Amino acid sequence: CGIVACIINDEAAPVLLECVRRLEYRGYDSVGLATLSGDIYIKKGEGKIDDVQKRLDLTDIPGNMGIAHVRWATHGLPTGINAHPQTDCKKRIAVVHNGIIENYKELKANLEDEGHIFASETDTEVLSHLIEKYMEMGNGLEVATRLATKDIKGSYAIAVISADEPNKIIGVRKESPLIVGVGEKESFIASDVPAILEHTKNVIYLNDNEMVILRPDGVVIKDMDGNILDNKVNIIDWSS
Ligand code: GLU
Repeated sequence: CGIVACIINDEAAPVLLECVRRLEYRGYDSVGLATLSGDIYIKKGEGKIDDVQKRLDLTDIPGNMGIAHVRWATHGLPTGINAHPQTDCKKRIAVVHNGIIENYKELKANLEDEGHIFASETDTEVLSHLIEKYMEMGNGLEVATRLATKDIKGSYAIAVISADEPNKIIGVRKESPLIVGVGEKESFIASDVPAILEHTKNVIYLNDNEMVILRPDGVVIKDMDGNILDNKVNIIDWSS
C-alpha cells in the first residue's frame, strides 16, 4: 500500500519501479504502473515486485510521466485485474489509490445505472469512473478530480493521469499520507519521503483535503475549493 507518481526528463517507468520498490516495506500483494505518452499504458500484476517484473517487464511502457502502486487489497481479491492503476471505460484516465472508499457500493450502483461498465471488484475503480463522468460533463482533470473526491467517503491518497490532459498529474490526500518532491524540472508524489529521496531532497508535506497539481515545470498546491496554498518546501537533511 503505497503510491508514487512522477514527471521527469527521462523514461518514467524504470524510475517509478525503483521508487515503489522503496515502499515494499509497507506490505503489498500486487504492483502496477501506468505511463502516459499519447495514450495510457498499463502494466500490473499479482505478486512480489521481482516476480511481476520477471513475468511482465513493468518498465516496458513509454513516456516521461506516470503513476505506480503497491496494493494491500481491502476490496476485491489480490488479482491482476484488481491491481492498480484502475481506469475508466475508455482507458483515458488512470488512478492509483491507497485507503478505503466507504460508500463505493452505492456510487458503483449509480454509475452502473448511468452506463459505466466496471472491470474490477475494487472500491478504487469508482474514482476513475467518477472522474470520467465529470470530465464528460466538460470539466478539466483538476476540477473533475475535485468533484469526484467530494462524492466519496473514506480515506485516500490518490494520483490521477488523463490522456486528454498530458503533462499533468493530480494528487489528493485525506487520512492517508502523501508528500510532494520538487526537483530540477522533475516532480514527484509519494506515500513517503524515502521513496523519492534519491531524486530530490525538496519535499512539501500535503495536509488532509489538499490537492497537488504536478507539471513538468513545477507544482501547485490547492485546497478543495481550488484556492492556491503556500505550503513550505522542506529540505530533507538526513544528517540532522
Ligand atoms: N482499497 C483499495 C483496494 O483494495 C486500495 C488498497 C491499498 O491501499 O493498497 O484496491
